[in-house]
Amino acid sequence: MLKKLAKVLLIMLCFQIHMCYAIPGKLVEIKDNIGTVDYFGEKRKVLMDSEAQAGDYVYAQGGVVISKIAEQDALKILDFWKEKFFELKKVDNQLAKIEDLEASDNLLEILQKVNLRKELNNNELLNLLRLKDKNELKLLYETANNLRQKEHDNACCVHGIIEFSNNCRRNCFYCGIRKDNNIKRYRMSAEEIISLAKHAVDNLGFKALVLQSGEDLSYTDEELVKVVKTIRKLGVLIFISIGTRKKELYKKLYDAGARAVLLRFETSNKELFKKVRPETNFEERIELIKYAKKIGYLIATGFIMGIPEETEQDIINNIILTKALKADMYSFGPLIPAKNTPLENQKQIDINSVLKVISLCRFMDVRSKILVTSAVETLHEDAKKQGLLAGANSLMINLTPHCYKELYSIYSGRPDKDITVKKNIKETIKLLYSLGRAPTDIGHT
Ligand code: SAM
Ligand code: SF4
Repeated sequence: MLKKLAKVLLIMLCFQIHMCYAIPGKLVEIKDNIGTVDYFGEKRKVLMDSEAQAGDYVYAQGGVVISKIAEQDALKILDFWKEKFFELKKVDNQLAKIEDLEASDNLLEILQKVNLRKELNNNELLNLLRLKDKNELKLLYETANNLRQKEHDNACCVHGIIEFSNNCRRNCFYCGIRKDNNIKRYRMSAEEIISLAKHAVDNLGFKALVLQSGEDLSYTDEELVKVVKTIRKLGVLIFISIGTRKKELYKKLYDAGARAVLLRFETSNKELFKKVRPETNFEERIELIKYAKKIGYLIATGFIMGIPEETEQDIINNIILTKALKADMYSFGPLIPAKNTPLENQKQIDINSVLKVISLCRFMDVRSKILVTSAVETLHEDAKKQGLLAGANSLMINLTPHCYKELYSIYSGRPDKDITVKKNIKETIKLLYSLGRAPTDIGHT
C-alpha cells in the first residue's frame, strides 16, 4: 500500500515538474561549439549557448542548448519520461501511417516524388494547392505527417508568447492594432515583462518565449536590452518579434542573449506588400530577415494568407521565399478580418487552404519547424490537431495577461481570448499526448 502511495506521489510530482516543454538530455560531447545530446539513446546535435560541459544535463530549444539542469533534477524528470517517451513514439508512429486511399495517378506520382525526397516543380505545387477531393486531401496531409515523423520524430515545440505592447507606428491594412485604429493602448513596463517571463519559466516551465509587440518606439534600446538580458538569465530561448526596427537594435538584442527572430515578410508579391503595408518597404524587411540570419539568429518567418488579389502563384512564391530565407521555423496563417481596418470585410479563407500550405511547406522543407499559429486556430476548433496532422510540429501558448490580451486585438475573435494560461497548457499537453507528441525540442539529428 505504502509503495503504491509513494509511486502515485512520485508520478504527481513528476507531472508537476513536467508541466515543462522540453526534456533534459545528457551532453555527451562538445566539438567546435556543437554539442551532442543523448536522449534515451537518441543522439541530437545542438548549438552550444550555455556554459554547460560534457557530462552535464541540459535543456535545448530550437537546436540551441539554453541551460544546464542539476543531475538529480534531470534524473527525476527522465525517470518519468523513460516510459512515456517511448509510449508517445508508438502512438505517433501509428498515426503517421499512410492509408491506402484512392487518388489520381497525377497525385500519386507527385507524392511518390515527395517520398523520394525529390524537389517538386512549380506546376506540381500548384496541382497540390488546387486539390479539393476529400480522399486526396487526406492523402496529402497523411503524406506530410509521415514525412514530419520520419524527419523530426515526435518532438513538438511549445513556445510561450508575451504580447507586451499594442502601440504601433504602422498602418498595415489587415491589423487591428494599426496606428489609425482607435483602440485602448497598453504598454507593459520592463519590470512587468520580466516578471511575467519569470513566472512563465519558473512556474509554468516554458523554455522558449516570444516577446512580441507593435512597432513601438517608446522603449529605448537600453530598456529592451535589459529585458532580454534579464530573461536570458532564466535559461530560456528568446524570440523577438518587434517588426521592422534598426539592424543595430537587432544586433544589440542578439548580444544581450536573444537567439531567434519572428518576423514575417507577409507576402512575396511586392505590389500587394505596398498596398497593404503603406509606408513600409518590402526590400527593407527582407534585408532585415537576412541580416538577422547572418548574425546568428534562428529565423521564424512566413506570410499571411488571404490578402485581397492574392493568387495561387503568390502562395507558392511565399513558400519558396520562406525557404530561400532559410527559415528555421515557418510561421504563416490566414488573414482574419479585424474590425475597423481597411480589410474588415475581406472574405476569410478556409481551414483546408491553410492545411494544404502546411503540407506543401513540409514537402518543400522537410527539416523546418512548422508552426500552427493562433490565427489558424480561429478557423476551426480542431485546427491545432489538424495542423499537427498535416505536417506541422510547433505550437504557441499565449501568456499575455488577460487585461492586455483583449487589447492586443490584431484580429477579431481570437481563439485564446477567454481561456486561462493554465487551462490552455493543460489542453495543449492533453492534445499532444493524444497525438503521441512529446512537448520537447530536442535539436537536430
Ligand atoms: N509588429 C510586428 C510585425 O508586424 O512583425 C509584430 C507583431 S504583428 C501583430 C505579428 C503578425 O500578426 C504579423 O506578422 C501579421 O502577419 C499578423 N497579423 C496582423 N494582423 C492580422 C490579421 N488580421 N489576421 C492574421 N494575422 C495578422
Ligand atoms: Fe504594426 Fe505589426 Fe500590426 Fe503592422 S502587423 S500594424 S507592424 S503590429
